[in-house]
Amino acid sequence: MSRRSALLAEMGLAPLWRLRRKISHPPDSWIELKQLVSGCTQCGLHKTRTQTVFGVGDENADWMLIGEAPGAEEDRLGDPFVGQAGKLLDNMLAALELDRARKVYIANVLKCRPPGNRNPEPEEVAKCSPHLLKQIEFVKPKLIVAMGRFAAQTLLATDASIASLRGKVHRYAGVPLIVTYHPAYLLRNLPDKAKAWEDLLFARRTLAAL
Ligand code: URA
Repeated sequence: MSRRSALLAEMGLAPLWRLRRKISHPPDSWIELKQLVSGCTQCGLHKTRTQTVFGVGDENADWMLIGEAPGAEEDRLGDPFVGQAGKLLDNMLAALELDRARKVYIANVLKCRPPGNRNPEPEEVAKCSPHLLKQIEFVKPKLIVAMGRFAAQTLLATDASIASLRGKVHRYAGVPLIVTYHPAYLLRNLPDKAKAWEDLLFARRTLAAL
């Protein structure tokens, strides 16, 4: 018996064991939501993940940027957009005088990495997107930027293309939402970077006009 246990026993104080509460209602705090996500087994992706990738940034941010799903680096490190696509995203944010720790919150539609970075399956999106919707509810952003097809189509409940959704102010639960290309797509299609930059300037103007 350790000295601490012996002392507690001497004082008649048994060790206190507390059952981790299983959350059976919609999470109503960040702590509950983080606990729910880290233990989530609702789809098959939990079997292949190293860890869940929750989100990063200012939990009271004006800007909320939403991507698709963690890749290999994100799965390894536990934060969204920390690979090559993330570097591009950070540079674009810096050009707007923003960074991931201030005024911005970044999350994905899926919290677990699809093996081999394949596209998310509809069932995975259906099971995982309620976590994202809770994050949006908690952050209460003034503006959402949906990066890529999966974020845009999930939040706008549409199967329209990115090209047709760009350049307009959409709404998710009353919050203005701007659609742009996914940073990983931009790495493969460098000429479209200028269009993504236009989208971010449009997003900044939209926020300023609120
Ligand atoms: N692509 C995404 O959509 N999200 C990440 O976190 C990384 C790459």
